[in-house]
Amino acid sequence: MSKAGDIEPDPSVIGNIAKPPFVRLPDSRQLFTDRAQRFRALADGHELASYLLFLADLSQAQADIQSDLPEPEMPAAETRARAKAHSMPPLDRGRFTADAAFDVAFERLTAAAEPIDMPAPAREALTRLKHADATIPTMVRNVLDDAIPIESMAEHVFVAAALQVHFARLAQRLDAAQLVPVGDGVCPACGAAPVASLVVGWQNADGTRFCSCSLCGTLWNFVRVRCTVCGKTDKITYQEISGGNGQIKAEVCETCGSYSKVLYQQKNAVLDPVADDVASLGLDLLVRELGFRRGNVNPFLLGY
Ligand SMILES: [Zn+2]
Ligand SMILES: [Zn+2]
Repeated sequence: MSKAGDIEPDPSVIGNIAKPPFVRLPDSRQLFTDRAQRFRALADGHELASYLLFLADLSQAQADIQSDLPEPEMPAAETRARAKAHSMPPLDRGRFTADAAFDVAFERLTAAAEPIDMPAPAREALTRLKHADATIPTMVRNVLDDAIPIESMAEHVFVAAALQVHFARLAQRLDAAQLVPVGDGVCPACGAAPVASLVVGWQNADGTRFCSCSLCGTLWNFVRVRCTVCGKTDKITYQEISGGNGQIKAEVCETCGSYSKVLYQQKNAVLDPVADDVASLGLDLLVRELGFRRGNVNPFLLGY
């Protein structure tokens, strides 16, 4: 955070500095490769080490299964144009139906997960998934509706991981210039909620903030000191674990009673919205004790 009295140039109004992009679409393989590395680094000496290592391997599988996957079915050009005209995301989660690209991704991901070391509940869930063909469309719907039942969270981790691969591949194929803001806390590509937000150190956007989509991995510009859930700017405070390094804070909104995490990539370029969110569970516990609820979505942090 800047100190009182600091004057920060606004990159959007200074003529010779490029305007920060509205969105950055994901590179669907790099996204998960980087995430796997970050999970692995975070696991070192962490009390959740075994879970973080499982997610490192699962993230690596999300990258590895992408070779030669069938092309995902993109929405038609006129559907995309209509979405833009109505300030709607072009990828409509509400109308999602599995195509060959998703079916193969799901099949490959569950197969690639088989040899991974994982906590017992995850192993049991993976075994159950093999006999759950009929219920997979329901689980897909639950993930896309942010309505995952507590009793089958572990199965949904794998379903969510496959959907992340699929939607990152779809988002990668969109034209960033055609995306428009669709609302607070809503991904302009797919309509999902953010997992966290990043204050980036990019050359053309140093110090600006981007929300990171929990489903497709798209980043979209979002002003700082503003609630990513309700959009209000007053009554925002920041909480951090005492003795923290200033790289992750909870942005707490007293207006709607929720909080979301802000990751300062300016201070550490390798911070990953999903991995660092899981590894900073202590911050969730702290802020929840103060009476606030999680405003953002992370299928790997269910039950907390
Ligand atoms: Zn998205
Ligand atoms: Zn709020």
